[in-house]
Amino acid sequence: MESEFVAWLRERLPPHPLLRLGPGDDAAVLRLGDRAECVVTVDLLTDGVDFQVGQVDPRRIGRKALAVNLSDLAAMAARPVAAVIALALPRQGGLALARQLYEGLLPLAAEHHVAIAGGDTNAWDGPLAISITALGETTVRGPLQRKGARPGDVLMVTGELGGSILGKHFDFEPRVREALALHARYDVRAGIDISDGLALDLGRLADESSVGAEVRTDLVPVSAAAHRLAAERGDGTTALDHALGDGEDFELLLAVAPEDASRMAADSLGVRLTAIGRFVAEPGLWRIDAGQVRRPLARTGFEHSMTP
Ligand SMILES: [Mg+2]
Repeated sequence: MESEFVAWLRERLPPHPLLRLGPGDDAAVLRLGDRAECVVTVDLLTDGVDFQVGQVDPRRIGRKALAVNLSDLAAMAARPVAAVIALALPRQGGLALARQLYEGLLPLAAEHHVAIAGGDTNAWDGPLAISITALGETTVRGPLQRKGARPGDVLMVTGELGGSILGKHFDFEPRVREALALHARYDVRAGIDISDGLALDLGRLADESSVGAEVRTDLVPVSAAAHRLAAERGDGTTALDHALGDGEDFELLLAVAPEDASRMAADSLGVRLTAIGRFVAEPGLWRIDAGQVRRPLARTGFEHSMTP
């Protein structure tokens, strides 16, 4: 399990004077000067796991590889600066594939003023693997972290959730501008991007903050794709289940000071902002369905599997 490995790593790694925040958040934070701090994140996408080469336009793969990193920078409320890109390319058709990957990611890089600062490209007998490391800088407000949510804070989410497998997992907009604007204007106390599922990522944020969280399920913004997926599959999984448990929505989950929450919900950012619950002192995740009593919320979502 990836989370077990990260827990081991957090114990194992020695402290470093310049490393303010190491593994365990959406990105690392390095103290490089007295102005901004450097925020660093890396992601690895592989053919057969995250996508299927031959079934999707490689430009969408390239765009996604950068976008997932930008989403992690957004989760830290960091301004993107640069990226370095490592490619392991199949020997057959590798060069054409590399060009297409870049053609897909360059417009997104330009949109967010990200310099492609370098990288490495190898050919091998295995499938395509693409790993991007992105660098960002904090603003005067400092990095947003998973830790910092307090009992009474309002749980807010951007956009709509669920059913990303129908397309959004490639074409989502990383919430960089929204994160920077909200972090600048309001008392946002903690944040995470939803990469593995609302319930799972909320659990991570709550654990790091040493608080619990209650989700009002009737307030969760369920996407049209979630409704479509539930209808198509017809396996008893509801649209709400998809919104609670599907990964790769790459929306932001935020803990907001109660006095700022309603002002924030009314802010016109060009993206929907919804209050879906609150943080509580009692540890654990809870769901409150309309007219029902509170009960535990299962931490559904996607976890990368690893054999010991
Ligand atoms: Mg993340």
